[in-house]
Amino acid sequence: MENGIFSKNCVTDFPTITYPTQQSLITGTYTGDYRKELCHGVPLSDWMGRHIAPPKLRCYASKDLQIYKMNEDLGPNCQTILEMIDDGNTSSIVQFINRGADYSFPENKIKLAFYYLLLSRKRFFLKLIALANTVIIQKILENFKKPKKYFGNNEPPICSHLLFFTSDILCHAFGYDSKYYKLNLIHIDKQIGILMRELDKMGYLDDTAIAITSDHGNYRAGKTGSLRNFFESFGLTHYHPRKNIKGNFNLCGFGGVGFLNFKGASSHKYGWRHPTINELKKYGPKRINLLESLFKIEESHLMYYRDSNNTYDKGIIHLKRKDRTTGNIVLGTIEYRGTGHNYKTKYIAEDDNNDIFGYSNDDIASKLIDNRFHSINEWIEGTYHLDFPMYPDLIPRHFKNPRSSDIIVSTGGKVVFTHEHEKNKNEPLYTHDIGLRKCAIVPLMIGGSKEIPYKEITYCKTTDIVPTLLKFLGKSPHKSVIGKCLI
Ligand SMILES: [Zn+2]
Repeated sequence: MENGIFSKNCVTDFPTITYPTQQSLITGTYTGDYRKELCHGVPLSDWMGRHIAPPKLRCYASKDLQIYKMNEDLGPNCQTILEMIDDGNTSSIVQFINRGADYSFPENKIKLAFYYLLLSRKRFFLKLIALANTVIIQKILENFKKPKKYFGNNEPPICSHLLFFTSDILCHAFGYDSKYYKLNLIHIDKQIGILMRELDKMGYLDDTAIAITSDHGNYRAGKTGSLRNFFESFGLTHYHPRKNIKGNFNLCGFGGVGFLNFKGASSHKYGWRHPTINELKKYGPKRINLLESLFKIEESHLMYYRDSNNTYDKGIIHLKRKDRTTGNIVLGTIEYRGTGHNYKTKYIAEDDNNDIFGYSNDDIASKLIDNRFHSINEWIEGTYHLDFPMYPDLIPRHFKNPRSSDIIVSTGGKVVFTHEHEKNKNEPLYTHDIGLRKCAIVPLMIGGSKEIPYKEITYCKTTDIVPTLLKFLGKSPHKSVIGKCLI
């Protein structure tokens, strides 16, 4: 950091969950309608593939190793940074978004299954966690030392990505304020030191740029809650393809933020169409108004949902906030237009002095609530210093993806719920899905070679990393890349 480029205000993606934040980081673009737009196709860690019958459920953390589907799910309209480098060897270490890698570790699913043992989050595995950090650096150094063995030629890798996944595991299991978490960060730091020392010994450090960032931050929830029986009381039954339960509802995760899927009336045999707003207002056998009733979920006070006739290049996202003290409902909308580099959004507050994200209390951000369309560059400039940074830009991108849900509900972290896929999770208090700065702002450092200029960047995006690194290599980013070069 003291010799290179760094920023203390690097804005990550929406939602601040491991996936899609890592997809965006590695492709330099965001999600959207991946069938029609230049973007990637992964909206969430758990999602519902709705336009086939019966709908498929994707869960990247599942035991049947669906993590291997991630490269396919990205779609053909984006590239990983490894794919953007057409000549030279590339390697991917413990990072499964690895399209374009000439070498990947672990090499096969059996080895991966072993790594999944680590994910069971027990104290017993602390030693294995340290080993996981060590292996990552040893593997990349072997790539440099014995390229012939890994690439079939004598050239060291020109671009590599490495994922230290242990900090996320330890944060969920013990908390960011635990000694395990802190010691692990020191251990990772030591491993990076070993990498730099060894690269220096081999004479490669002067030609190397090392970018270090995080996919998201974290928070400690107020308490845990249970949604058991809640949905049943509304006449909502969970879709379950394996148990052959057709259902009328599916929950794709609910920590502090819930992603809820419902079945549109015109679905027939074509999977689950997104319901219209009128359908959401009288849904299920009890014909309940979901747009009001979901606020009965403990502490839920934010709600986002799409308008009925949205397309990939034009549409409206509706926003609601329940005032915690008065119980009054504050309304807003985000309108979007265009795609790719022409995409812009307009954030409208029904009450100019009381908007959904609290921008109206800020001198700079309030200027963007001006009934005009703004680009991602304008949104980051105006909101990087606030909670919900860049949200008017990021939320519609998420909803454009047909794999995203119908209604998003947030408790703001006051309560986190244990959700369907993680019944055994014992310490769910520490997580990272809400839009507060402590989740959405991450640090960025790019150091290594002395040729990298010393520069503090006031604010940037995780999608800026790909074009910046490509610039060092003298290469151009893929046309889908939304991030911009930091030098
Ligand atoms: Zn996590």
